[in-house]
Amino acid sequence: MKNKIILFILSSAVFFIPLSNGIVYAKANTLAELRGELSSLKKQQQQNKEKQNLTKSQINSAKNNIESNQNQIQTNQQKVIAATNESAQLEQEISSGKEKLEKLVKTYQISKNENVYLKYVFDATSYEDLVYRYAIIEQVMNYQEEQIGEWKDKIAYNAQLKKDLEAKEKELQQQIGSLNQSIDKLGSQLSELNDMTQDIEAEIKSIQSSIDFYVSIGCKENDNLDVCLSVSGDKIFRKPLTKGTITSSFGYRIHPITKKKKFHSGTDIGVAEGTKVYSIANGTVSKLVKKSKCGGNMVYVQHIVNGKKYTSTYMHLWKINAKLGQKVDSNTVVGLSGGGKHTASKYGGYDTCTTGAHLHLSLATGWYEKDYFSYSSWLSHLINPKDTLKLPKSWSSR
Ligand SMILES: [Zn+2]
Repeated sequence: MKNKIILFILSSAVFFIPLSNGIVYAKANTLAELRGELSSLKKQQQQNKEKQNLTKSQINSAKNNIESNQNQIQTNQQKVIAATNESAQLEQEISSGKEKLEKLVKTYQISKNENVYLKYVFDATSYEDLVYRYAIIEQVMNYQEEQIGEWKDKIAYNAQLKKDLEAKEKELQQQIGSLNQSIDKLGSQLSELNDMTQDIEAEIKSIQSSIDFYVSIGCKENDNLDVCLSVSGDKIFRKPLTKGTITSSFGYRIHPITKKKKFHSGTDIGVAEGTKVYSIANGTVSKLVKKSKCGGNMVYVQHIVNGKKYTSTYMHLWKINAKLGQKVDSNTVVGLSGGGKHTASKYGGYDTCTTGAHLHLSLATGWYEKDYFSYSSWLSHLINPKDTLKLPKSWSSR
């Protein structure tokens, strides 16, 4: 006997559920609230995108600063090389200049007849001429001394320049170091923002599809969504198939192809393709997925069994019989089983996550698309269908 319709009249309060990724969304009880939630998520998404752009431009400007520092370092290094070369040349000039000067002084002081300078002085034709010639010699010597002094100044200047430029290089290198650090930091900020944007994008899609779903089943803007769903309660779960063999259990298993430990989201029941698949209890069809690359055709049904909410999922279907929003019971055929040559990619089909004819049945607590929206939330609400449905012993895994 069928149970009476259980109406879940929830309070109109909006509950805020913080997700692990920091997104806070309201658990909406009406279409109007869902729409409000959608627009706030879209706003959040817009802000996120602005933050992403800002972070990207900060990274770019840090990169530009690094480049300009590197250019400056290169220019400075060239300046250092030029100064070093110039100083070396000047040192040489000084030592040869000194030599010349010494020679000059020596000859000027000591030599007499053989000396060209003295000869030049003593060749004077008059006293005035002598004084004049002497002054010329003195000028030459002064000039040499002055020149050496200038060169020495220039060398000292170059040495200081080298010191300054080396200090500047150290400073510029330090700046590059801290710029690189901030680029790392900004990079991880950006990847966090990217993750968050993806999550919000998924939430937006999910809420949008929820809105479409509630609209499609005729809910009004301010109707309580649970009331609108009017899921008939049931007392027990029934089998989704009249026969079958459990080929893979719920939970972690070693994947037959990849050999990696992987979470299996339901119970696989081996059965010939085209076998009728029944809803496991009274409920409302809440989600249809068509020709998914992993899972193929899927039907999701929301149930209330013994006062508790559940969502059942039937995957790898060859054909879907159910309509969105359709009220079903355990005599309703929601689809025909597939998973083999009609749907599996290995036989030329579209479903890459099946290798042979079977039904994959998942069971989650709560209502997917109502109490939670994301795929990851659905995963965290999964329970073992085999235990919950008390499938016959003869269905045990081989
Ligand atoms: Zn499976």
